[in-house]
Amino acid sequence: MTNTVKTIAIVGGGTAGWLTASIIASHHKSASNNSVNVILIESSNIPTIGVGEGTWPTLKNTLQDIGLKESDVFRKCHAAFKQGAKFTNWVHGNGDFYYHPFTVPLGYGRIDLAPYVNNIENYAIESNFQHHICEKGLAPRTFAEGEYQGTCNYAYHLDASMLGEMLKEHCINKLNVTQIVDTVKSVTLSNDGSIKSVVLNEHNEVDADLFVDCTGASSLLLGKTLGVPFKPVDDVLFNDSALAMQVPYENDDDPVATHTIATAQNTGWIWDIGLTHRRGVGHVYSSKYITDDEAENNLRTYLGKAGEGISCRKISYKPGYHERFWEKNCVAVGMSAGFVEPLEATAIMLVEISARYIAENLPASKENMLITAKRFNSQMDYRWGRIIDFLKLHYMLTKRKEPYWQAHCDPKTIPESLKEDLAIWKYKGPTISDFQGANELFPAASYQYVLYGMGFKPDFTVQQHLYQEHLQADRLIKRNEQLTEQMLQTLQPHRHFINQWLSATK
Ligand SMILES: Cc1cc2nc3c(=O)[nH]c(=O)nc-3n(C[C@H](O)[C@H](O)[C@H](O)COP(=O)(O)OP(=O)(O)OC[C@H]3O[C@@H](n4cnc5c(N)ncnc54)[C@H](O)[C@@H]3O)c2cc1C
Repeated sequence: MTNTVKTIAIVGGGTAGWLTASIIASHHKSASNNSVNVILIESSNIPTIGVGEGTWPTLKNTLQDIGLKESDVFRKCHAAFKQGAKFTNWVHGNGDFYYHPFTVPLGYGRIDLAPYVNNIENYAIESNFQHHICEKGLAPRTFAEGEYQGTCNYAYHLDASMLGEMLKEHCINKLNVTQIVDTVKSVTLSNDGSIKSVVLNEHNEVDADLFVDCTGASSLLLGKTLGVPFKPVDDVLFNDSALAMQVPYENDDDPVATHTIATAQNTGWIWDIGLTHRRGVGHVYSSKYITDDEAENNLRTYLGKAGEGISCRKISYKPGYHERFWEKNCVAVGMSAGFVEPLEATAIMLVEISARYIAENLPASKENMLITAKRFNSQMDYRWGRIIDFLKLHYMLTKRKEPYWQAHCDPKTIPESLKEDLAIWKYKGPTISDFQGANELFPAASYQYVLYGMGFKPDFTVQQHLYQEHLQADRLIKRNEQLTEQMLQTLQPHRHFINQWLSATK
């Protein structure tokens, strides 16, 4: 290993690999002065996972930063706007639903509206307009607003394979990333145990200063070669299997949902992601509670006629993550670092965060590499813990009676950190000061939407003296009603907006 990081070899060409390559290469402007040499090695024999179509609003900035036009992303990836998620049947299983929208409540950061709304279970509706925008299937912005802008906050639904293709083309043509199509057959180590090179089937071996493991669930470099232990979390989050289907629309002009629809089942839940050319629908479940056939039956019942004649693909995974993510001169990004489940689309967001950290903190010496690794590991460990708590929150407040859901409510399966949060929130609800700022993935608003949507009711009367801003709160709640009316009048139907916008930007 040389003293400064000049050559970075990324192994793996899935979403994680190409997104990491584009973030590092664009940050280091490798296209203009070759400051850093980014090489990406991808196997033509080992397929990518082929799912991962829901994203988080962070992707807006990421795509903009790496130099992509938003309209090109929509064209190439059959993309749609995602304004949040609708959780159906998670509380009672009787048709109940709530939204986790991406726009924060009115007055967020100045006043917490939760103690003032009429019905806390409708918190998302009384404090925010996006519930209605999603229910009516409207786009998050008007034609007057530019690329990556929007009255409502949003992320994307993207075709996973087209996303990879688009990023690859951008990396090779615009960002000077070198692509090698070959399979890594072995790895050589230096005396200090760091990775010296990866040995390929057909090309020369590749030496690098830093290796990024984006090999997916096989975790070839971090897990298999460097032996960093894997920490399972199936005692908290039980899902370990998924069935995925690509479902065509009946008509080309059928409406496209502008949010992920997450519908709870007797075991697990079904995701329904609307792209412009098809839907991506899948059932994630625990193999301890139902068989694959039962899960397929759930999925086909959900789809009805739309699923007839369409095959589904089974994906198994171990929920968990590695004890360390950066070991010596190797850092894992994507499925190779870990994966818990698709709920709330945290995986691609973690890829963005990890890649940005690597890009911004490329160590200038071997000694610094160790410090950087230690800091990265500590931040990421915190983030994984927060993801697990946040995802568990979606399950553990259910009133559903099936064994799978009851097991989620068993205190033995609830992390201590989440129990502590809930003990505090029993009297005040989550607010911004509960969270660690820069390292936080989900804002307090996300916790509020899920917590109250799931029927959790803090007892605000215990510290009633803190909640005396009735005039201001009532004004904001009224303002939200007006804004909702206004937006329902001005925003266009989602598919219509995308079609018009793309034809105007050709
Ligand atoms: C059911 C399910 C649903 C999901 N839904 C979402 C979602 O909605 N939102 C979200 O954010 N995330 C989601 N994820 C996670 C998301 O799919 C992944 O985080 C994302 O696709 C990144 O995958 P990856 O690039 O790490 O791995 P992969 O796509 O598996 O890519 C691995 C790459 O490594 C290469 N490779 C492997 N071994 C070698 C070798 N020896 N030599 C050379 N190359 C090699 C392969 O060829 C491939 O290119 C989901 C995951 C699952 C299982």
